[in-house]
Amino acid sequence: MSVLFVNNIRFFDTTLRDGEQTPGVSLTPDQKFEIAVKLADIGLNVIEVGSAAASEGEREAIRLISDARLGAEISTYVRALDQDIDFAADYGTDSVHLVIPVSDLHISKKMRKTREQVANMAYHAVEYAKERGLLVELSGEDASRADQSFVRELFTEGVNRGAERLCFCDTVGLLTPEKVVQFIPPIAEIAPLSIHCHDDLGFALANTIAALKTGATCAHVTVNGLGERAGNTPFEELVMSLEVLYGYDTGIKKEEIYHLASLVSRLTGVPLPVNKAIVGEMAFTHESGIHAHGVIREPTTYESIKPEIIGRKRRIVLGKHSGSASVEAALNEMNYHTDESQVKEIIKRIKELGDEGKRVTDTDLMAVADAVLAIEYKPVIKMRQITVVSGSNVIPTASVTLVVNGQEITGASTGNGPVDAAMQVLRKSIADVADIQLEEYHVDAIRGGTDALVEVTVRLSKDGKIITSRGARTDIIMASVEAMIAGMNRLLREKA
Ligand code: MN
Repeated sequence: MSVLFVNNIRFFDTTLRDGEQTPGVSLTPDQKFEIAVKLADIGLNVIEVGSAAASEGEREAIRLISDARLGAEISTYVRALDQDIDFAADYGTDSVHLVIPVSDLHISKKMRKTREQVANMAYHAVEYAKERGLLVELSGEDASRADQSFVRELFTEGVNRGAERLCFCDTVGLLTPEKVVQFIPPIAEIAPLSIHCHDDLGFALANTIAALKTGATCAHVTVNGLGERAGNTPFEELVMSLEVLYGYDTGIKKEEIYHLASLVSRLTGVPLPVNKAIVGEMAFTHESGIHAHGVIREPTTYESIKPEIIGRKRRIVLGKHSGSASVEAALNEMNYHTDESQVKEIIKRIKELGDEGKRVTDTDLMAVADAVLAIEYKPVIKMRQITVVSGSNVIPTASVTLVVNGQEITGASTGNGPVDAAMQVLRKSIADVADIQLEEYHVDAIRGGTDALVEVTVRLSKDGKIITSRGARTDIIMASVEAMIAGMNRLLREKA
Protein backbone atom coordinates (compact mmCIF):
# COMPACT_ATOMS: atom_id res chain seq x y z
CA MET A 1 0.00 0.00 0.00
CA SER A 2 1.22 3.50 -0.77
CA VAL A 3 0.95 6.55 1.40
CA LEU A 4 -1.33 8.92 -0.43
CA PHE A 5 -1.21 11.80 1.97
CA VAL A 6 0.64 15.06 1.56
CA ASN A 7 1.97 15.55 5.00
CA ASN A 8 1.96 14.42 8.58
CA ILE A 9 -1.71 14.29 9.40
CA ARG A 10 -2.73 16.12 12.55
CA PHE A 11 -5.83 15.31 14.58
CA PHE A 12 -7.86 18.17 16.03
CA ASP A 13 -10.36 16.81 18.51
CA THR A 14 -13.60 18.68 19.04
CA THR A 15 -15.39 16.15 21.27
CA LEU A 16 -15.41 18.69 24.10
CA ARG A 17 -16.85 21.47 21.87
CA ASP A 18 -18.81 20.25 18.82
CA GLY A 19 -19.29 16.88 20.52
CA GLU A 20 -20.70 18.54 23.60
CA GLN A 21 -23.11 20.40 21.31
CA THR A 22 -24.82 17.03 20.69
CA PRO A 23 -28.40 17.72 21.83
CA GLY A 24 -28.79 16.79 25.49
CA VAL A 25 -25.08 16.50 26.28
CA SER A 26 -23.49 18.63 28.98
CA LEU A 27 -20.18 17.88 30.68
CA THR A 28 -18.86 19.25 33.96
CA PRO A 29 -15.33 20.73 34.08
CA ASP A 30 -14.12 17.59 35.88
CA GLN A 31 -15.60 15.32 33.23
CA LYS A 32 -14.02 17.42 30.48
CA PHE A 33 -10.71 17.15 32.27
CA GLU A 34 -11.00 13.36 32.53
CA ILE A 35 -11.69 13.09 28.79
CA ALA A 36 -8.94 15.60 27.88
CA VAL A 37 -6.31 13.58 29.77
CA LYS A 38 -7.28 10.51 27.76
CA LEU A 39 -7.36 12.44 24.46
CA ALA A 40 -3.85 13.76 25.01
CA ASP A 41 -2.61 10.35 26.11
CA ILE A 42 -3.94 8.57 23.02
CA GLY A 43 -2.03 11.01 20.79
CA LEU A 44 -4.39 13.74 19.58
CA ASN A 45 -2.55 16.92 18.57
CA VAL A 46 -5.14 19.58 19.38
CA ILE A 47 -7.97 19.52 21.92
CA GLU A 48 -10.75 22.07 21.47
CA VAL A 49 -12.07 22.34 24.98
CA GLY A 50 -15.23 24.40 24.45
CA SER A 51 -16.41 27.93 23.83
CA ALA A 52 -14.87 30.29 26.34
CA ALA A 53 -17.79 32.68 25.98
CA ALA A 54 -20.44 30.03 26.71
CA SER A 55 -20.31 29.85 30.51
CA GLU A 56 -18.24 30.09 33.65
CA GLY A 57 -18.06 26.27 33.71
CA GLU A 58 -16.56 26.25 30.21
CA ARG A 59 -13.89 28.70 31.29
CA GLU A 60 -13.15 26.67 34.40
CA ALA A 61 -12.68 23.59 32.20
CA ILE A 62 -10.34 25.49 29.87
CA ARG A 63 -8.23 26.68 32.81
CA LEU A 64 -8.16 23.22 34.42
CA ILE A 65 -7.03 21.56 31.19
CA SER A 66 -4.55 24.28 30.16
CA ASP A 67 -2.92 24.27 33.59
CA ALA A 68 -2.41 20.51 33.45
CA ARG A 69 -0.07 20.83 30.43
CA LEU A 70 -1.19 17.58 28.90
CA GLY A 71 1.12 17.79 25.89
CA ALA A 72 -1.60 18.51 23.33
CA GLU A 73 -2.33 22.00 22.05
CA ILE A 74 -5.36 23.45 23.85
CA SER A 75 -7.78 25.38 21.69
CA THR A 76 -11.07 27.18 22.15
CA TYR A 77 -13.90 28.15 19.86
CA VAL A 78 -14.28 31.92 19.49
CA ARG A 79 -16.45 34.23 17.43
CA ALA A 80 -14.96 37.39 15.89
CA LEU A 81 -15.52 39.28 19.13
CA ASP A 82 -12.87 40.84 21.37
CA GLN A 83 -14.65 39.49 24.45
CA ASP A 84 -14.41 35.88 23.21
CA ILE A 85 -10.73 36.30 22.39
CA ASP A 86 -10.06 37.87 25.79
CA PHE A 87 -11.67 34.90 27.54
CA ALA A 88 -9.51 32.50 25.52
CA ALA A 89 -6.30 34.38 26.34
CA ASP A 90 -7.16 35.00 29.98
CA TYR A 91 -7.99 31.34 30.63
CA GLY A 92 -4.78 30.03 29.15
CA THR A 93 -5.51 28.43 25.76
CA ASP A 94 -2.72 28.06 23.21
CA SER A 95 -4.86 28.70 20.15
CA VAL A 96 -8.27 29.86 19.02
CA HIS A 97 -10.59 28.22 16.53
CA LEU A 98 -11.90 31.50 15.10
CA VAL A 99 -15.13 30.77 13.25
CA ILE A 100 -16.38 33.15 10.55
CA PRO A 101 -19.54 32.51 8.49
CA VAL A 102 -18.55 32.56 4.82
CA SER A 103 -21.64 31.46 2.86
CA ASP A 104 -24.00 34.21 1.67
CA LEU A 105 -26.79 32.33 3.43
CA HIS A 106 -25.09 32.62 6.81
CA ILE A 107 -23.77 36.12 6.17
CA SER A 108 -27.12 37.59 5.18
CA LYS A 109 -29.67 35.50 7.11
CA LYS A 110 -27.81 34.72 10.32
CA MET A 111 -25.43 37.67 10.66
CA ARG A 112 -27.58 40.17 8.70
CA LYS A 113 -24.36 41.67 7.37
CA THR A 114 -22.49 42.04 4.07
CA ARG A 115 -19.48 39.99 2.96
CA GLU A 116 -17.32 43.05 3.47
CA GLN A 117 -18.53 43.62 7.03
CA VAL A 118 -17.94 39.98 7.95
CA ALA A 119 -14.48 39.97 6.35
CA ASN A 120 -13.50 43.09 8.27
CA MET A 121 -14.69 41.52 11.54
CA ALA A 122 -12.55 38.49 10.73
CA TYR A 123 -9.41 40.53 9.99
CA HIS A 124 -9.81 42.57 13.16
CA ALA A 125 -10.32 39.39 15.21
CA VAL A 126 -7.21 37.74 13.71
CA GLU A 127 -5.12 40.79 14.56
CA TYR A 128 -6.56 41.05 18.05
CA ALA A 129 -5.94 37.35 18.76
CA LYS A 130 -2.33 37.77 17.59
CA GLU A 131 -1.96 40.78 19.90
CA ARG A 132 -3.15 38.56 22.73
CA GLY A 133 -0.48 35.99 21.88
CA LEU A 134 -2.73 33.27 20.50
CA LEU A 135 -2.24 30.90 17.57
CA VAL A 136 -5.10 31.38 15.11
CA GLU A 137 -6.94 28.74 13.11
CA LEU A 138 -9.25 30.81 10.90
CA SER A 139 -12.31 28.74 10.12
CA GLY A 140 -14.83 29.31 7.34
CA GLU A 141 -18.27 28.26 8.56
CA ASP A 142 -20.55 26.76 5.89
CA ALA A 143 -17.61 26.97 3.46
CA SER A 144 -19.00 24.13 1.35
CA ARG A 145 -21.99 26.30 0.36
CA ALA A 146 -19.97 29.49 -0.06
CA ASP A 147 -18.67 31.30 -3.12
CA GLN A 148 -15.21 29.74 -3.24
CA SER A 149 -13.56 32.89 -4.58
CA PHE A 150 -14.77 34.78 -1.51
CA VAL A 151 -13.47 31.98 0.75
CA ARG A 152 -10.04 32.20 -0.90
CA GLU A 153 -9.99 35.98 -0.64
CA LEU A 154 -10.94 35.96 3.05
CA PHE A 155 -8.46 33.20 3.89
CA THR A 156 -5.61 34.87 1.98
CA GLU A 157 -6.11 38.19 3.75
CA GLY A 158 -6.65 36.41 7.10
CA VAL A 159 -3.23 34.77 6.70
CA ASN A 160 -1.70 38.14 5.73
CA ARG A 161 -3.04 39.52 9.00
CA GLY A 162 -1.41 36.71 10.99
CA ALA A 163 -3.59 33.57 10.97
CA GLU A 164 -1.32 30.49 11.05
CA ARG A 165 -3.87 27.94 9.91
CA LEU A 166 -7.16 27.67 8.09
CA CYS A 167 -10.17 25.39 8.37
CA PHE A 168 -12.79 24.45 5.78
CA CYS A 169 -16.08 23.68 7.55
CA ASP A 170 -18.76 21.55 5.94
CA THR A 171 -21.15 22.82 8.59
CA VAL A 172 -24.30 20.94 7.50
CA GLY A 173 -22.75 17.92 5.80
CA LEU A 174 -23.39 18.75 2.15
CA LEU A 175 -19.90 18.15 0.81
CA THR A 176 -19.03 15.28 -1.53
CA PRO A 177 -15.60 13.83 -2.35
CA GLU A 178 -16.01 15.29 -5.88
CA LYS A 179 -16.51 18.80 -4.49
CA VAL A 180 -13.56 18.30 -2.14
CA VAL A 181 -11.30 17.69 -5.15
CA GLN A 182 -12.46 21.03 -6.59
CA PHE A 183 -12.52 23.18 -3.45
CA ILE A 184 -9.62 22.03 -1.28
CA PRO A 185 -6.42 22.27 -3.39
CA PRO A 186 -6.56 26.06 -4.04
CA ILE A 187 -7.18 26.75 -0.34
CA ALA A 188 -4.55 24.33 0.87
CA GLU A 189 -1.98 26.41 -1.02
CA ILE A 190 -2.66 29.43 1.20
CA ALA A 191 -1.73 27.91 4.58
CA PRO A 192 -1.92 24.61 6.51
CA LEU A 193 -5.57 23.53 6.23
CA SER A 194 -7.94 21.61 8.49
CA ILE A 195 -11.09 19.87 7.33
CA HIS A 196 -14.20 19.89 9.54
CA CYS A 197 -17.00 17.63 8.35
CA HIS A 198 -20.50 16.74 9.50
CA ASP A 199 -22.22 13.45 8.91
CA ASP A 200 -25.75 14.50 7.96
CA LEU A 201 -25.67 12.32 4.85
CA GLY A 202 -23.12 9.82 6.14
CA PHE A 203 -20.27 11.38 4.12
CA ALA A 204 -18.15 12.88 6.89
CA LEU A 205 -15.45 10.20 6.88
CA ALA A 206 -15.25 9.97 3.07
CA ASN A 207 -15.06 13.75 2.71
CA THR A 208 -12.40 14.00 5.41
CA ILE A 209 -10.24 11.39 3.70
CA ALA A 210 -10.75 13.07 0.32
CA ALA A 211 -9.62 16.39 1.82
CA LEU A 212 -6.56 14.78 3.42
CA LYS A 213 -5.65 13.39 0.00
CA THR A 214 -6.03 16.73 -1.76
CA GLY A 215 -4.07 19.04 0.49
CA ALA A 216 -5.62 19.30 3.95
CA THR A 217 -3.16 18.38 6.71
CA CYS A 218 -5.40 18.26 9.75
CA ALA A 219 -8.72 16.52 10.44
CA HIS A 220 -11.30 17.73 12.92
CA VAL A 221 -12.78 14.70 14.67
CA THR A 222 -14.91 13.70 17.62
CA VAL A 223 -14.85 10.50 19.63
CA ASN A 224 -17.77 8.24 18.59
CA GLY A 225 -18.70 10.85 15.96
CA LEU A 226 -20.55 12.99 18.50
CA GLY A 227 -21.53 16.48 17.42
CA GLU A 228 -24.35 18.70 16.22
CA ARG A 229 -27.26 16.69 14.73
CA ALA A 230 -25.82 13.56 13.05
CA GLY A 231 -22.37 14.42 14.41
CA ASN A 232 -18.84 14.91 13.12
CA THR A 233 -16.17 12.71 11.57
CA PRO A 234 -15.61 9.87 14.05
CA PHE A 235 -12.04 9.77 15.37
CA GLU A 236 -11.92 5.99 15.66
CA GLU A 237 -13.20 5.44 12.11
CA LEU A 238 -10.75 7.91 10.61
CA VAL A 239 -7.75 6.46 12.45
CA MET A 240 -8.61 2.88 11.58
CA SER A 241 -9.39 3.63 7.91
CA LEU A 242 -6.13 5.52 7.48
CA GLU A 243 -4.25 2.63 9.04
CA VAL A 244 -6.09 -0.32 7.48
CA LEU A 245 -7.15 1.00 4.08
CA TYR A 246 -4.29 3.40 3.32
CA GLY A 247 -1.42 1.89 5.28
CA TYR A 248 -0.81 5.20 6.99
CA ASP A 249 0.78 5.14 10.44
CA THR A 250 -1.24 7.64 12.49
CA GLY A 251 0.89 7.36 15.62
CA ILE A 252 -2.30 7.04 17.68
CA LYS A 253 -2.32 4.51 20.56
CA LYS A 254 -4.92 2.35 18.89
CA GLU A 255 -5.18 -0.18 21.72
CA GLU A 256 -6.75 2.62 23.80
CA ILE A 257 -9.47 3.47 21.26
CA TYR A 258 -12.21 1.32 22.78
CA HIS A 259 -11.47 2.52 26.27
CA LEU A 260 -11.70 6.16 25.13
CA ALA A 261 -14.96 5.46 23.26
CA SER A 262 -16.50 3.83 26.34
CA LEU A 263 -15.37 6.65 28.61
CA VAL A 264 -16.89 9.30 26.34
CA SER A 265 -20.10 7.31 25.97
CA ARG A 266 -20.41 6.92 29.73
CA LEU A 267 -19.66 10.56 30.60
CA THR A 268 -21.82 12.08 27.84
CA GLY A 269 -24.67 9.62 28.35
CA VAL A 270 -24.80 8.97 24.59
CA PRO A 271 -24.85 5.19 24.11
CA LEU A 272 -22.71 3.66 21.38
CA PRO A 273 -25.01 2.48 18.57
CA VAL A 274 -24.79 -1.31 18.69
CA ASN A 275 -23.81 -1.62 15.03
CA LYS A 276 -21.37 1.31 14.98
CA ALA A 277 -18.13 0.73 13.09
CA ILE A 278 -15.11 -0.08 15.30
CA VAL A 279 -16.70 0.63 18.69
CA GLY A 280 -20.28 -0.69 18.48
CA GLU A 281 -21.22 -3.73 20.58
CA MET A 282 -21.75 -5.84 17.45
CA ALA A 283 -18.63 -4.74 15.55
CA PHE A 284 -16.77 -7.91 16.59
CA THR A 285 -19.70 -10.17 17.47
CA HIS A 286 -20.61 -13.15 15.34
CA GLU A 287 -23.73 -15.25 15.43
CA SER A 288 -24.48 -16.75 12.03
CA GLY A 289 -23.24 -20.29 11.57
CA ILE A 290 -21.11 -19.71 8.49
CA HIS A 291 -19.41 -16.59 9.87
CA ALA A 292 -18.81 -17.98 13.34
CA HIS A 293 -17.41 -21.17 11.87
CA GLY A 294 -15.12 -19.06 9.66
CA VAL A 295 -13.72 -16.84 12.40
CA ILE A 296 -13.22 -19.79 14.74
CA ARG A 297 -10.96 -21.33 12.06
CA GLU A 298 -9.38 -18.10 10.78
CA PRO A 299 -10.48 -14.67 12.08
CA THR A 300 -9.60 -12.77 8.89
CA THR A 301 -12.31 -14.66 6.98
CA TYR A 302 -14.97 -12.35 8.42
CA GLU A 303 -13.06 -9.64 10.27
CA SER A 304 -11.29 -6.68 8.65
CA ILE A 305 -9.52 -5.64 11.85
CA LYS A 306 -8.28 -7.75 14.74
CA PRO A 307 -10.37 -6.62 17.75
CA GLU A 308 -7.27 -6.69 19.99
CA ILE A 309 -5.75 -3.81 17.98
CA ILE A 310 -8.27 -1.40 19.43
CA GLY A 311 -8.48 -3.05 22.84
CA ARG A 312 -11.51 -5.28 22.25
CA LYS A 313 -12.34 -8.97 22.09
CA ARG A 314 -14.14 -11.12 19.57
CA ARG A 315 -17.48 -12.52 20.73
CA ILE A 316 -19.43 -15.46 19.42
CA VAL A 317 -23.06 -15.43 20.49
CA LEU A 318 -25.64 -18.12 20.08
CA GLY A 319 -29.02 -17.67 18.45
CA LYS A 320 -31.19 -19.02 15.70
CA HIS A 321 -28.46 -18.43 13.12
CA SER A 322 -25.89 -20.46 15.06
CA GLY A 323 -24.27 -23.45 13.47
CA SER A 324 -22.76 -26.51 15.06
CA ALA A 325 -19.21 -25.06 15.22
CA SER A 326 -20.13 -22.23 17.60
CA VAL A 327 -22.44 -24.40 19.72
CA GLU A 328 -19.75 -27.07 20.01
CA ALA A 329 -17.13 -24.45 20.88
CA ALA A 330 -19.38 -23.04 23.61
CA LEU A 331 -20.19 -26.51 25.00
CA ASN A 332 -16.50 -27.39 25.06
CA GLU A 333 -15.70 -24.26 26.99
CA MET A 334 -18.34 -25.27 29.54
CA ASN A 335 -16.89 -28.78 29.86
CA TYR A 336 -19.82 -30.65 28.34
CA HIS A 337 -18.94 -33.86 26.59
CA THR A 338 -21.44 -34.41 23.84
CA ASP A 339 -21.87 -36.74 20.91
CA GLU A 340 -23.09 -35.75 17.49
CA SER A 341 -26.77 -36.52 18.04
CA GLN A 342 -26.78 -34.65 21.34
CA VAL A 343 -25.23 -31.58 19.69
CA LYS A 344 -27.91 -31.75 16.99
CA GLU A 345 -30.67 -31.79 19.59
CA ILE A 346 -29.06 -28.93 21.55
CA ILE A 347 -28.79 -26.81 18.38
CA LYS A 348 -32.43 -27.51 17.58
CA ARG A 349 -33.52 -26.24 21.01
CA ILE A 350 -31.21 -23.21 20.83
CA LYS A 351 -32.78 -22.25 17.51
CA GLU A 352 -36.23 -22.58 19.03
CA LEU A 353 -35.24 -20.09 21.72
CA GLY A 354 -33.86 -17.80 19.02
CA ASP A 355 -37.08 -18.09 17.03
CA GLU A 356 -38.97 -16.79 20.05
CA GLY A 357 -36.89 -13.62 19.65
CA LYS A 358 -34.74 -14.31 22.72
CA ARG A 359 -31.05 -13.70 23.03
CA VAL A 360 -29.49 -16.98 24.09
CA THR A 361 -27.38 -16.66 27.22
CA ASP A 362 -24.85 -19.10 28.66
CA THR A 363 -27.34 -20.24 31.29
CA ASP A 364 -29.86 -20.97 28.53
CA LEU A 365 -27.30 -23.12 26.75
CA MET A 366 -26.42 -24.91 29.99
CA ALA A 367 -30.08 -25.52 30.82
CA VAL A 368 -30.63 -26.96 27.33
CA ALA A 369 -27.47 -29.07 27.52
CA ASP A 370 -28.42 -30.39 30.96
CA ALA A 371 -31.84 -31.39 29.68
CA VAL A 372 -30.47 -33.08 26.57
CA LEU A 373 -27.72 -34.88 28.47
CA ALA A 374 -30.19 -35.58 31.31
CA ILE A 375 -27.82 -34.18 33.90
CA GLU A 376 -29.58 -33.44 37.13
CA TYR A 377 -28.78 -29.95 38.16
CA LYS A 378 -28.76 -29.16 41.88
CA PRO A 379 -28.51 -25.44 42.49
CA VAL A 380 -25.98 -24.40 45.14
CA ILE A 381 -28.00 -21.32 46.08
CA LYS A 382 -31.72 -21.28 46.87
CA MET A 383 -33.56 -18.14 47.77
CA ARG A 384 -36.00 -18.21 50.72
CA GLN A 385 -37.03 -14.57 50.59
CA ILE A 386 -35.93 -11.14 49.44
CA THR A 387 -37.34 -7.81 50.63
CA VAL A 388 -36.47 -4.55 48.92
CA VAL A 389 -37.44 -1.12 50.24
CA SER A 390 -37.30 2.07 48.22
CA GLY A 391 -39.02 5.44 48.32
CA SER A 392 -38.57 9.20 48.67
CA ASN A 393 -37.18 9.44 52.21
CA VAL A 394 -35.47 6.11 52.58
CA ILE A 395 -32.13 4.66 51.56
CA PRO A 396 -32.80 1.80 49.13
CA THR A 397 -32.24 -1.37 51.16
CA ALA A 398 -32.50 -5.07 50.42
CA SER A 399 -32.49 -8.02 52.81
CA VAL A 400 -32.30 -11.62 51.76
CA THR A 401 -32.37 -15.14 53.14
CA LEU A 402 -30.48 -17.68 51.06
CA VAL A 403 -29.73 -21.32 51.54
CA VAL A 404 -26.20 -21.93 50.30
CA ASN A 405 -24.90 -25.50 50.35
CA GLY A 406 -27.67 -26.31 52.86
CA GLN A 407 -26.74 -23.46 55.20
CA GLU A 408 -29.03 -20.54 55.80
CA ILE A 409 -27.49 -17.10 55.28
CA THR A 410 -29.22 -13.80 55.98
CA GLY A 411 -27.86 -10.47 54.81
CA ALA A 412 -28.80 -6.85 54.18
CA SER A 413 -27.36 -4.16 51.98
CA THR A 414 -28.05 -0.65 50.79
CA GLY A 415 -27.59 0.63 47.26
CA ASN A 416 -28.10 3.70 45.11
CA GLY A 417 -31.44 2.24 43.98
CA PRO A 418 -33.55 -0.84 44.70
CA VAL A 419 -31.98 -2.95 41.95
CA ASP A 420 -28.48 -2.00 43.06
CA ALA A 421 -29.36 -2.87 46.69
CA ALA A 422 -30.69 -6.27 45.61
CA MET A 423 -27.62 -7.04 43.50
CA GLN A 424 -25.31 -5.98 46.33
CA VAL A 425 -27.00 -8.11 48.96
CA LEU A 426 -26.85 -11.21 46.77
CA ARG A 427 -23.18 -10.74 46.04
CA LYS A 428 -22.29 -9.98 49.65
CA SER A 429 -24.28 -12.87 51.09
CA ILE A 430 -22.30 -15.43 49.15
CA ALA A 431 -18.95 -13.64 49.49
CA ASP A 432 -17.69 -16.36 51.84
CA VAL A 433 -18.42 -19.04 49.26
CA ALA A 434 -17.20 -17.25 46.14
CA ASP A 435 -16.09 -13.85 44.91
CA ILE A 436 -18.52 -13.15 42.09
CA GLN A 437 -18.37 -9.84 40.20
CA LEU A 438 -21.19 -8.25 38.24
CA GLU A 439 -19.48 -7.17 35.00
CA GLU A 440 -22.46 -5.99 33.02
CA TYR A 441 -26.13 -5.34 33.58
CA HIS A 442 -28.59 -4.80 30.77
CA VAL A 443 -32.35 -4.23 30.75
CA ASP A 444 -34.80 -4.58 27.87
CA ALA A 445 -38.50 -3.81 28.26
CA ILE A 446 -40.29 -6.16 25.94
CA ARG A 447 -42.97 -3.97 24.32
CA GLY A 448 -43.94 -0.64 25.88
CA GLY A 449 -46.01 0.08 28.98
CA THR A 450 -45.31 -0.08 32.71
CA ASP A 451 -46.80 -3.59 32.87
CA ALA A 452 -44.44 -4.93 30.20
CA LEU A 453 -42.25 -7.94 30.66
CA VAL A 454 -38.76 -6.85 31.62
CA GLU A 455 -35.77 -8.87 30.50
CA VAL A 456 -32.55 -8.48 32.48
CA THR A 457 -29.25 -9.87 31.20
CA VAL A 458 -26.23 -9.99 33.49
CA ARG A 459 -22.62 -10.90 32.88
CA LEU A 460 -20.95 -12.35 35.95
CA SER A 461 -17.38 -13.38 36.52
CA LYS A 462 -15.58 -15.57 39.03
CA ASP A 463 -11.82 -16.21 38.87
CA GLY A 464 -11.71 -15.16 35.23
CA LYS A 465 -14.65 -17.34 34.24
CA ILE A 466 -17.46 -15.36 32.67
CA ILE A 467 -21.09 -16.25 32.25
CA THR A 468 -24.19 -14.51 30.91
CA SER A 469 -27.57 -15.15 32.35
CA ARG A 470 -31.11 -13.84 32.05
CA GLY A 471 -34.19 -13.16 34.12
CA ALA A 472 -37.57 -12.20 32.69
CA ARG A 473 -40.41 -10.89 34.88
CA THR A 474 -42.82 -7.97 34.95
CA ASP A 475 -40.99 -6.83 38.11
CA ILE A 476 -37.58 -5.36 37.28
CA ILE A 477 -36.16 -6.19 40.71
CA MET A 478 -37.25 -9.81 40.56
CA ALA A 479 -36.03 -10.13 36.96
CA SER A 480 -32.63 -8.87 38.13
CA VAL A 481 -32.58 -11.23 41.13
CA GLU A 482 -33.56 -14.17 38.91
CA ALA A 483 -30.78 -13.41 36.42
CA MET A 484 -28.24 -12.97 39.20
CA ILE A 485 -29.11 -16.18 41.08
CA ALA A 486 -29.26 -18.29 37.90
CA GLY A 487 -25.83 -16.96 36.88
CA MET A 488 -24.28 -17.42 40.33
CA ASN A 489 -25.58 -20.99 40.48
CA ARG A 490 -24.03 -21.78 37.11
CA LEU A 491 -20.70 -20.30 38.15
CA LEU A 492 -20.75 -22.30 41.37
CA ARG A 493 -21.79 -25.65 39.98
CA GLU A 494 -19.31 -28.42 40.40
CA LYS A 495 -17.67 -29.69 37.27
CA ALA A 496 -19.43 -32.71 35.87
MN1 MN B 1 -19.24 21.71 13.56
